[in-house]
Amino acid sequence: MSEGSAPRRTVIHNATVLTADAADRVLIDASVVIEGSVIVAIVDGGRPEPQPGEVVIDAGAGIVMPGLVDVHSHLPMTLFRGLADDRDLQAFLGRLLPLEAATLTPAVVAAGGRLAMAEMLGAGVTTALDMYWYPEVTAEVAAAAGLRLATGPLFIGGEAPDHERFADRVAAYSASGPHDWTMVHGTYTMSVGELEEAAGLAAAAGSRLHLHAAENQAEVDQVLAVTGRRPVELLDHLGLLGPTTVLAHAVVLTDDEVARLGATATAVAHCPLSNMKLASGICRVVDLLAAGATVGLGTDGPSSSNDLDLFAAMRVAGLLAKVASLDPSALTAHQVFKMATIEGARTLGLEAVTGSIEVGKEADLIRLDPSSPSLTPAFDPVSAVVYAASRADVVDVWVAGERVVADRRHTTLDLEAVLSEVRMVTRTFG
Ligand SMILES: [Zn+2]
Repeated sequence: MSEGSAPRRTVIHNATVLTADAADRVLIDASVVIEGSVIVAIVDGGRPEPQPGEVVIDAGAGIVMPGLVDVHSHLPMTLFRGLADDRDLQAFLGRLLPLEAATLTPAVVAAGGRLAMAEMLGAGVTTALDMYWYPEVTAEVAAAAGLRLATGPLFIGGEAPDHERFADRVAAYSASGPHDWTMVHGTYTMSVGELEEAAGLAAAAGSRLHLHAAENQAEVDQVLAVTGRRPVELLDHLGLLGPTTVLAHAVVLTDDEVARLGATATAVAHCPLSNMKLASGICRVVDLLAAGATVGLGTDGPSSSNDLDLFAAMRVAGLLAKVASLDPSALTAHQVFKMATIEGARTLGLEAVTGSIEVGKEADLIRLDPSSPSLTPAFDPVSAVVYAASRADVVDVWVAGERVVADRRHTTLDLEAVLSEVRMVTRTFG
């Protein structure tokens, strides 16, 4: 905004607004008013009095909804897309970890991060939780692109792709803080002592914790053999479950572990596309929700489920829950929609900031193409989003009130430059 002027004001009118609020309201012929970074008014039926200088967007009776929240990814792994397909988690890591060790630098991570930002913003993802090397680089790239990114230092045992040793990470942690998030790779890639040390640093700093856990049976068997406990049992034993912990995957769970995750209100990042592609299994989403866990949707890194498409993840999450239980009413479209929006925000502790269209919240929202054939008719617009929409239907994206995608064009990224940089960086990877 220019000096002395009112904050920039945008009015989106003639919209079908999917609020994802507590009442899950869908508003017809509604308007959303944004001033600065914040939603300041929602008009249910009609539009507010025009004001001089405001930007007016006619949604054409199409869908306006909260930006999507991706609660588990490794964003710069866009660079390794398609290099480790059709194999399980252990074989995938066997291929990727040496490749990362041979190629990763801050500049390479920045190139992959920018590609991820371009892909996500264009696909309606406005917030993401990222676990990767050189997190400060990805955070910078996200800030420039206008994506709301949650990330933090990553701990793993042994020699890591960034060639830092565990002790160096411990030493650097406090000096580079404070950190909202601490990433602890998982119970199968670090010793119990390392796990306790990293988690202890996070707890002392009041940082949220993000780990992989119980992704497939081989991982569970390995952790059980080494520690005498299954991954979720071990995390519970160490006091690491709770509402500020996000477990990626949590696929292989006993009834007792489901109950523990529910009782501690632990958050789970459900990544159905990755779980299917790696043949890891099916997360017990319905049981977890019934037990009291928070569940958000993630894509995982774009080389284990090769893109960052949360529209695809929504549809597959719904279908997978149904076929797993042979119950078509399992995990409804409305439940899935909330997992990708407000429940995703809750997974990250950002439910007061983003994830729904409500007055006072940050203006993180997206507009879909009103002339998309697959969204016509839309008797239940939430069903249309989950079962019929695709990311190609996204035309406008706002993050914190900034229109980062306008009529399908990036305003914060030079897409051609991003792509040519990635082509250059990856030319020797295959
Ligand atoms: Zn992952």
